[in-house]
Amino acid sequence: MPFISLGLSPDLAQSALEQGYTQATPIQSAAIPAILQGNDVLATAQTGSGKTASFCLPLLQQWLESPRAMLRQPRALILLPTRELAVQVGGILQDLAQSLPRKLKVAVVYGGVSINPQMMALRGGADIIVATPGRLLDLEDRNALRLSSIKTLVLDEADRLLDQGFADELSSVLERLPPARQNLLFSATFPAEVGALANKVLNQPQRIAIEQSAATAPDIRQRAIEVDAGRRTMLLRHLLATHDWDRVLVFVASRQAADRVADKLQRNGVSAAALHGDCSQSQRGQALADLKTGRLRVLVATDVAARGIDIARLPLVVNYDLPRSPADYTHRIGRTGRAGASGEAISFVSADCAAHFKLIEKRQQLRAPRERIAGFEPLETAAPAVSLADPDGNGGIKGKRKSKKDKLREAAALQQQAG
Ligand code: AMP
Repeated sequence: MPFISLGLSPDLAQSALEQGYTQATPIQSAAIPAILQGNDVLATAQTGSGKTASFCLPLLQQWLESPRAMLRQPRALILLPTRELAVQVGGILQDLAQSLPRKLKVAVVYGGVSINPQMMALRGGADIIVATPGRLLDLEDRNALRLSSIKTLVLDEADRLLDQGFADELSSVLERLPPARQNLLFSATFPAEVGALANKVLNQPQRIAIEQSAATAPDIRQRAIEVDAGRRTMLLRHLLATHDWDRVLVFVASRQAADRVADKLQRNGVSAAALHGDCSQSQRGQALADLKTGRLRVLVATDVAARGIDIARLPLVVNYDLPRSPADYTHRIGRTGRAGASGEAISFVSADCAAHFKLIEKRQQLRAPRERIAGFEPLETAAPAVSLADPDGNGGIKGKRKSKKDKLREAAALQQQAG
């Protein structure tokens, strides 16, 4: 559905177009009119569905329609669980507001970094606040911001907000907000705690549930390439040299591996950076920004660092090291093929982790044909489940100790293979 038919002003419909959004996604078609009508909304929506724009666009419209005298008095508050998400949502608001007739000021505040620059940035007020709950409370305690002008509250990724132990902070924030306001709650899942939160916060909400239909299911081509563990970086370089993927996210199992692979790529003329738990917040932000602008082609990341990040139009994810669990596999490959775009996920399968990959496939009900690339055909065969050279039985999954359960599963898979 075109954006203009959802009740958005021509300016905002144009903003969506400028971001390359030609048609509204299902969550946008349902949520935008409901929010513009002033309703509370309870939406089940996954990341990748376009949910962020589904609340950002109407928030911006409401802000454009607010009296001039209200400018720089925050009218919307978006609460979310992580700093990465806060930066991302703040960025989407700025992008969408780029060519609007008013200049938007967004305050993005999150914990884990010094509070002073955030206090400075809040001087002179802000129109929309994007925040993690704890830091928001700290800033309010220090009179760096006021919540009395908030007209709309958004709880984004409410399930993760509760998972991360923000329940008490959320209650405190709610007490400090004006009682008459619009409330929007987005959550990927609906455990009982989210239901309870929804009951507490929402007032006769309009319910929106977007099923993952064939139309919205990510279109991801999943491939498995057999290669010896020691030749994976060479293969990666070969693939990068022979394809024109402009942005690539490579997953490895440890911080050391991330640094090592990124470094090797750099030394061979590929613009690459590592993203892991040891990177500072500004390094992470810089790496993501560089990937977005094309200054960087490859990010080599650990699972922890990549959690929750959204890289628009990411054509390829590579599992250099296989993920530990099928759930991590889903999470990793879900970084590509977002919002209707197609994507590719390539897993490097060395002999020692072939059984592990089979298990992942089985759980995913996936069957990726094994491919071999000329010049990189594997020579190694699987080592016994436990060998002297590899006493932990870590195989190709470097830096991670396998659980007893993992080992048992692998042994069973090997047996099945042999039989
Ligand atoms: P989200 O579900 O908000 O995390 O959005 C996932 C990705 O979809 C983001 O990279 C957005 O830029 C992109 N996106 C959002 N809405 C649309 C749309 N209508 N058409 C194409 N891409 C979109």
